[in-house]
Amino acid sequence: MKENLSNLKKSARELYLLNRTQAVVSWDQETQMPDAANEERAEQLALLEGIMHQKLTSPEVGRLLSALGAEEGRPEGKGDFAVEDKAFVREMYRNYSRASKLPESLVTEMARQTGLAHTSWVNARKNADFSLFEGNLEKIIELNREKADKIGYKEHPYDALLDEYEPYMTASQVEGVFGPLGEKLSDLTARIAASKQVDTSFIEKKYPVELQDKFGRSVIDKMGFPMDRGRLDISAHPFTTNLGTNDVRITTRYDEELVLSGLFSNIHESGHALYELGIGENIQGNILAEGVSLGIHESQSRFWENVIGRSKPFWEVFYPEFQKLFGEQTKGVGLDDFHKAVNKVAPSFIRVEADEVTYSLHVILRFEIEKAMLSGDIKVSSLPDEWNRRMKDLLGIVPADDAEGVLQDVHWAAGLIGYFPTYALGNLYAAQFSNSMKSGIGDLDDVIRTGKFGKILGWLRENIHQYGMVYPADELCRRVTGENLNPDYFTDYLEKKYGEIYGLRGN
Ligand code: ZN
Repeated sequence: MKENLSNLKKSARELYLLNRTQAVVSWDQETQMPDAANEERAEQLALLEGIMHQKLTSPEVGRLLSALGAEEGRPEGKGDFAVEDKAFVREMYRNYSRASKLPESLVTEMARQTGLAHTSWVNARKNADFSLFEGNLEKIIELNREKADKIGYKEHPYDALLDEYEPYMTASQVEGVFGPLGEKLSDLTARIAASKQVDTSFIEKKYPVELQDKFGRSVIDKMGFPMDRGRLDISAHPFTTNLGTNDVRITTRYDEELVLSGLFSNIHESGHALYELGIGENIQGNILAEGVSLGIHESQSRFWENVIGRSKPFWEVFYPEFQKLFGEQTKGVGLDDFHKAVNKVAPSFIRVEADEVTYSLHVILRFEIEKAMLSGDIKVSSLPDEWNRRMKDLLGIVPADDAEGVLQDVHWAAGLIGYFPTYALGNLYAAQFSNSMKSGIGDLDDVIRTGKFGKILGWLRENIHQYGMVYPADELCRRVTGENLNPDYFTDYLEKKYGEIYGLRGN
């Protein structure tokens, strides 16, 4: 048993190193590489991907896993191992069985179709015409259905796809959470829409990019982002990537006219990075050394971005410095008005620009549509109508055309079905975790007000970060909060916060 485990760890270590190497190559592609290098870079990445797939699905890995007793229903095997070794076997088994169930022909066809779909999606979006993308999307849904069938599922094909991003969670669990959440959020959105809107005119002024960068860096420095174990660079779309135990990098983008977007990207991505940098020493350098699910990952970024970064005490600390850098733009704007402006809520069409209250409604809509497309309950051809009807139901608005409706996200063109729920799950976990944090560090607002975030980061490390993938998300949630995922923490948090900002009755 012991020897099999140590041999499996050797294979896994190589997979880990290849994975981080791939991250270096991709990071370079997104931040430094000249455009002319694109084609060969794609070949390099495909080669690495192929080698990793071969290693993961090799007969030797299969043999070691079965010798360790890992099988369907008992993925952790039957060895009498420490918790992290059991988790290691469980995750190797999960990766191995997912990868070996997918025939190479399906993987290749998916890559081919998403390549075609991307081009047609760009064109369809440019022309605001869904019909130009419809045929490609139909193929992608079909391939995803085939993928789900190969991987296998108990209740719904969606389960097999969701599992890639939010391991062990099922569509019916998501439904159980999203159902009541959607109703409460729609109701809160409508009440806010009916009250006096906050003034954001000063936010729309021009803010020099160099000063945005200076301010952004000082904020993430105070959060605890260690520049000797990471970097901040510019890319077209902000992201975080893990290049190794002591090398987690984030990117951002600045726009003179969108001061908040750059700043909150910095905070958001730092939240992701701090998670990966906080992995415990006992699991560093192996496949458990990363966030356990995209939902939990997103809980870390959104906790820093929204719960901390959009709170009043946070701006009590940072607004004086902000005003010093941007005196002209913030002239005559007090702390209260600034805080209200960074928390403006209004129903809008574009998900990535949505506020903290309406954001999850955009996600719920996509989840419902994905699920219905997979099961065949709605036809791809009727998607624009379905989209607009649900927008009306959930947010009370209807997009003028397909570009600001059904065509806005790149995910489906990229073949990603089952990914969206993780964004909203992140909001829910973030609120639930921060509620538990109180018993560990006392009143969160009081801690933020000191401008020292070490206590908060320490709590996150101790309760969440250090474990990496050791505990599955649902188990981690119970360990940290004493209960299963419960959306009430999020809606209570929103009611309290936005009740005050918008002076809603009953608050
Ligand atoms: Zn994120």
